[in-house]
Amino acid sequence: MTPSDSPQNAALAALASVYAIAFANMDQGFCLLEKVDTSPNQPSDFRYLTVNPAFEKHTGLDNVTGKTILDVVPQAEQDTMAIYDQVALTGQSTHFQTYVGQLDLWMEARVYQLNQQPPQLAVLFNNITEWKKAQRQQSFLLALSDSLRPLTDPVTIQTIAAQQLLAELRAGWVYYISLATDSDTISALEGVSTEEPVPLLLGTGISRFGKAFLADYTNNGTVRYGDTQAEPSFTEQDRQAFRMIRAGALIAVPLVKVDKLIALLSVASPTPRVWTQQEVDLVKQVAERTWIALERARAEEALRKSEAAFRIIAQAAPALVWVCSALGEIIYFNQRWYDYTGQTEEQASGHGWITTMHPADAARILPYWQRCQRTGDSYEGEVRYQRHDGVYRWHLFRALPRRNSAGQIEAWYGLSIDTDDAKQAQEGLRKASRQKDEFLAMLAHELRNPMAAIHSGLAILSLTLVDEIPRSTVDMMSRQTAHLVRMVDDLLDVNRISQGKIELKTERANLVDLVQQAQHSLKALFEQQGKVLGVSLPTAPIEVDGDATRLTQVVINLLTNGLRYTGEGGQVRVSLMQEDNEAILQVRDNGIGLAEDQLEAIFELFVQVDNSLARSKGGLGLGLTLVKQLVGMHGGRVEAQSEGVGRGSTFTVRLPTLAAAPQPLAPPAQQAPDSGTPRRILVIDDNADAAMTLGMLLKLKGYESHTRTSGRSGLEAAEALQPAVILLDIGMPDLDGFASCRLIREQSWGGAVVVIALSGYGQQEDRQQTKEAGFDGHLVKPVDVEELLNMLTDLLGKDQTGTESA
Ligand code: ADP
Repeated sequence: MTPSDSPQNAALAALASVYAIAFANMDQGFCLLEKVDTSPNQPSDFRYLTVNPAFEKHTGLDNVTGKTILDVVPQAEQDTMAIYDQVALTGQSTHFQTYVGQLDLWMEARVYQLNQQPPQLAVLFNNITEWKKAQRQQSFLLALSDSLRPLTDPVTIQTIAAQQLLAELRAGWVYYISLATDSDTISALEGVSTEEPVPLLLGTGISRFGKAFLADYTNNGTVRYGDTQAEPSFTEQDRQAFRMIRAGALIAVPLVKVDKLIALLSVASPTPRVWTQQEVDLVKQVAERTWIALERARAEEALRKSEAAFRIIAQAAPALVWVCSALGEIIYFNQRWYDYTGQTEEQASGHGWITTMHPADAARILPYWQRCQRTGDSYEGEVRYQRHDGVYRWHLFRALPRRNSAGQIEAWYGLSIDTDDAKQAQEGLRKASRQKDEFLAMLAHELRNPMAAIHSGLAILSLTLVDEIPRSTVDMMSRQTAHLVRMVDDLLDVNRISQGKIELKTERANLVDLVQQAQHSLKALFEQQGKVLGVSLPTAPIEVDGDATRLTQVVINLLTNGLRYTGEGGQVRVSLMQEDNEAILQVRDNGIGLAEDQLEAIFELFVQVDNSLARSKGGLGLGLTLVKQLVGMHGGRVEAQSEGVGRGSTFTVRLPTLAAAPQPLAPPAQQAPDSGTPRRILVIDDNADAAMTLGMLLKLKGYESHTRTSGRSGLEAAEALQPAVILLDIGMPDLDGFASCRLIREQSWGGAVVVIALSGYGQQEDRQQTKEAGFDGHLVKPVDVEELLNMLTDLLGKDQTGTESA
């Protein structure tokens, strides 16, 4: 048996083949080296005696057996060679990491001495290139984030990130390409290039790189081309486009926001290049981090801008502007605040500003302010602040809270405007308006007394005159006086309505009747002027909840306007109909008409249209104001229409109707003709003319009349004469109507006598007052003869009326 045939040898051979299998299949690279003899001034070198397949796989080197390290890796790192030398010399095995630049290989190696002479080494290594690169990228990204964090300018952020990525990947250029809203047009371009800038032009479209490019980034999210000139999906035109921008190889990462491509981060190298997955991932990571930094910078920039804008507005505002925290502490006042109040920043800080508020207002406002702070309701009102000269002036203020994303109040923004001058002017106007109202009311009231006398005097004349000429003159004067009375009444009415002093006496009123009454009372007037009054009324009643007197007044005002504002051959037509729940009253005329811009204005107080015919008709511009106010009080509305000046006008009144309630109205009781014995009437009025004319009028109507001009003399006369009726003026010096009436009622004979008040006031409350003072009736001056006679008939009973004497 030869030694090689011994069982030990067989076992060794078997072991060797096991090792051979292990070396052939393990993932670690292995090589057996023998030191080459070199002269001392030459670099050390080692010869490969054997290598395993993993060695070839990791290093990319083939057929190295028999060659030296410097043969196959001429730029081998000197440090590594020194380590090998050391192990060969000392026999001490070692462990190290090294980068083999020429092979782009990171290895973690163990070196053992196998033989001392000739010196032989075993090298066992792991390929840690991937891991090393990942680590490197990680630190690159950390460094990138660190350098972007303090940056606030979006352009700088993009430029710095591009520079770092360019260096890391050793690429040709890196650009951030921002796109317009069409997701195609390049709207901004920031980045770096190793050569001259890339001819990617602002305003051009990225679609010129072809459909395949578009499809790639749309489908894959990222684009990676190792060789754009060899891309099978590209057309020649596409390739040309990539050549133009010196992109032999390209990575492009799109940024999509709300389904819209808004930017691309692109990295290119001028020549073809194999992009590793790691590199693609790195570009993605850089894109992500840069975009985060950009968004932050943009948000900060927007905030800075809005902050700056707020401060400019706050400084420019002609108001005191302030911002305070949710606790009420002042954060900001504009300069105007300090100038206005004379406070220093220190004095105003915290709650110091409150000392400028008027103490009475502070007591009122502060609890309200605290409530708003709790509820977040807008805080607004009026308050007085003390100006630097010590004067308190009124301000209008308003503040709103700013809330954070959780809905909590972070701060309050407010401003206060000095409204003191306006407030005083407003107060002045209000006072002037009040004085005007009071004056008009007083004027109208005072005009009633002389008018009462004239009115009664004319009534006497017209009853006594028989000659035609003086009679027609008196008639004319009566008409003019009636007109005067109406104007004064209108003036009083408007005045009362605008002061809210008129109350409607509403009842179920039939508009058909009211229009008929109005027609009746104006018939003669229309005939006198040779004008036509046409009426078209429904047969069924149209009922409203209204004040019959006031509604008749509305119709009469509209009809008299029709009469006044039509020329020769004037026609006025009034029609009434019901539409759903509305009564529609229309007064149409063929008169002077109205211009477009006058249609609304004519309803305003004292407004008269400046148009020669209208002007020549006089008037105070009250009639339509009254119509509008009265219709409004009835829940209705009125409007004017006209096709223009000279083309007639139409006034339409709409009133809410009541549901029909068929209740036949009893015919009014027929008044008994005057008959019976004359009755004694005493007129007491301090206006001697008024007393005298009224007395004469009563005489003409068959009564025995006596007059007195003061309360005292009136009382004495009453005692002596024991009249059936006393007509007693309310407004008299020394003993007025109320006091006189009370005294009369205290007399033994005074309980039965009929006492009627003569008053300038005819409101509900005035009537109520006279009633409560013991009067039996209430007449408003100037006394309407018909009304007086009717009242006498009512109060005395038909048997006891005066007898007609003329
Ligand atoms: P007054 O008639 O007293 O002036 P009104 O208030 O009744 O006051 O009318 C206001 C103005 O409206 C009138 O001055 C007149 O110019 C115009 N007006 C009123 N009614 C008519 C109408 N039927 N046709 C044309 N203009 C009218």
